[in-house]
Amino acid sequence: MEPNLDELRKNYEKFDNSKLVRIATEEATRLRPEAVELLKQIISERGLSKDITKGIDAQFQEVDNETLLEYTELLRELPCPICKSTEEKLNATMTGCVVSFIIMTSYKKELKIACPNCLDKANNQAMIKSALFGWWAFLGAL
Ligand SMILES: [Zn+2]
Repeated sequence: MEPNLDELRKNYEKFDNSKLVRIATEEATRLRPEAVELLKQIISERGLSKDITKGIDAQFQEVDNETLLEYTELLRELPCPICKSTEEKLNATMTGCVVSFIIMTSYKKELKIACPNCLDKANNQAMIKSALFGWWAFLGAL
């Protein structure tokens, strides 16, 4: 049975500020609409930052393709997190790396964001690592 608003308020009032902020910033989309409103109300009653309420709204905002593309292009202008260069726009790639130990083989998939140069390096490293540690997997299969 879902708690009614009064019960919900009593619950929220028991939480300290940090717990409320955590719910607001991480779990808002999982709450019922009336619970979200209540949460916003309590946050404002406690005089917590308005940015938290903005953060709740941001989680419900749908982004259309055009806006998403704009944001993406903005982010791509940032310096490369690896070499700090801004010469080329950032890209993203999935690198995969097979690492085998005597009893298990693991495949590590990673999302990497960097400039094209660094991505090439990262891909090569993943391949080298696969070549070095991956052959155990074949032994195990024999
Ligand atoms: Zn780079």
